[in-house]
Amino acid sequence: MITVKGVSKSFGKHTVLSDIDLEVPESQTYALIGPSGAGKSTLIRTLNALEGIDDGEITVDGVPVHGKRTDLNDLRSRIGFVFQSFNLYPHLTARQNVSLAPRKVRGRSRAEADERSAELLSSLGLGDKLDAYPGQLSGGQQQRVAIARSLAMDPTVMLFDEPTSALDPEMIKEVLDAIRRLADTGMTMVIVTHEMGFAREVCDAVVFMADGRIVEVAPPDQFFTAPGSDRARDFLGKVL
Ligand code: ATP
Ligand code: MG
Repeated sequence: MITVKGVSKSFGKHTVLSDIDLEVPESQTYALIGPSGAGKSTLIRTLNALEGIDDGEITVDGVPVHGKRTDLNDLRSRIGFVFQSFNLYPHLTARQNVSLAPRKVRGRSRAEADERSAELLSSLGLGDKLDAYPGQLSGGQQQRVAIARSLAMDPTVMLFDEPTSALDPEMIKEVLDAIRRLADTGMTMVIVTHEMGFAREVCDAVVFMADGRIVEVAPPDQFFTAPGSDRARDFLGKVL
């Protein structure tokens, strides 16, 4: 479970997050949507302390993310974060990319880590690509390797910031399907996305942000059929 209470953040004089309150319950998937510059990336990055905050408190599974005594490496190893760019190690195979952190951080044996890596990659439809290098994989395949790499650390929470924005249209579906299956397993997730169909079909709630504020949080059907604010109506008019 993720809780965000009274969180504010500025870059210099520019307030980017204004008094944000949000709760993402265990096993739910929330979509974070809104216009460019709304603060979506900044907010999701605060959830694992990639960004600091000026005010308020964020907890993940009860741990205060920005607490002075919080072990950030430990916290981040339990929060998977998948970005638009996959950032795989180019000189390592898919299997090695996925097994690296469990070996280095969790102290798993090579055999154990490689076996789990193969399992995860297979479950993401990459069973025949274990020994391929990133340069030999499509963007959609690389992004699925990146998802497997996060899952290999047994996270309790997964965060995604526009995981399909850098992909060609025909590869978007395979990545969204992988995320959908993850949602079905009961993973707690927040996903920043411009894929409105995905938000509507897969997510438990839509969080609509504009100008550094959360304007509304609603069940997807309600949000897409009867948005509760002019700002959201205006946004949907442009993207749907
Ligand atoms: P997009 O849909 O384009 O990705 P976003 O909702 O993710 O937009 P953010 O990236 O969170 O928006 O940015 C929110 C605001 O904060 C923007 O005005 C941006 O210019 C500003 N901002 C983000 N990061 C920094 C930074 N490191 N320094 C200064 N300003 C920043
Ligand atoms: Mg962004």
